[in-house]
Amino acid sequence: MSNVQVPKAEDLWKGDKPVFDPSKVTVVFVLGGPGAGKGTQCALMVKDYGFVHLSAGDLLRAEQERPGSQYGDLIRHYIKEGLIVPMEITIKLLENAMADAMANPPKLTDPKLEAGWENGKGRFLIDGFPRKMDQALMFDKVVCPSAFVLFINTDEDKMTQRIIERSKTSGRDDDNLESLKKRFKTFRETSMPVVDMYRKEGKVADIDSSVPIPQVYEQVKAALNKHLSF
Ligand code: UDP
Ligand code: MG
Repeated sequence: MSNVQVPKAEDLWKGDKPVFDPSKVTVVFVLGGPGAGKGTQCALMVKDYGFVHLSAGDLLRAEQERPGSQYGDLIRHYIKEGLIVPMEITIKLLENAMADAMANPPKLTDPKLEAGWENGKGRFLIDGFPRKMDQALMFDKVVCPSAFVLFINTDEDKMTQRIIERSKTSGRDDDNLESLKKRFKTFRETSMPVVDMYRKEGKVADIDSSVPIPQVYEQVKAALNKHLSF
């Protein structure tokens, strides 16, 4: 692996306020094990609620492939090993993507949904992040305090079956049994404490994704209606 220098958080964020104002910008974290169905549910929510969907994993994979990126090899290594990429990289990618969306709001045909992006407002689903305590604390402090967490989860056998199926078409380096075992270990040991912290704060909605997609989505909609005012 290359020995590129990762910038330090204190050099990236100098202000004492988060970049985005949580009274205008709604951030919903979407967490759950690999293959739990986070991306699938996010796509449904984008259509019905006018969210912009940002997948931390997708942003990292795009950065990995970006010509000229100094982080390509580093990201490739962490993803293959199921490890968490240093938070400075992931948080900066998310912040940049949020700023892009705020500057160029999505084109929505429903005026009610369009209003969610007027006058400096915005709504984001942040999928697959935060997966480690340091990321969670830093994002809430420097980028935007999150509104609540959708915790979409099922058992490891089901998730394994789904990833094996997905591996036929995903082209992802980490959709194989060896990487998947490491991803589950990281999820249990490193990501679950984040969910537990938010749970203590009363910010977690538990979604059982062992049932068919429309039934998962019913639970998701009920959680959004309960936790958000739109
Ligand atoms: N990843 C990371 N930091 C994050 C999110 C993802 O380092 O905040 C890396 C990690 O190695 C993870 C991989 O990206 O295993 C794939 O994440 P993704 O969310 O795409 O996988 P999913 O859980 O959706 O299968
Ligand atoms: Mg995903």
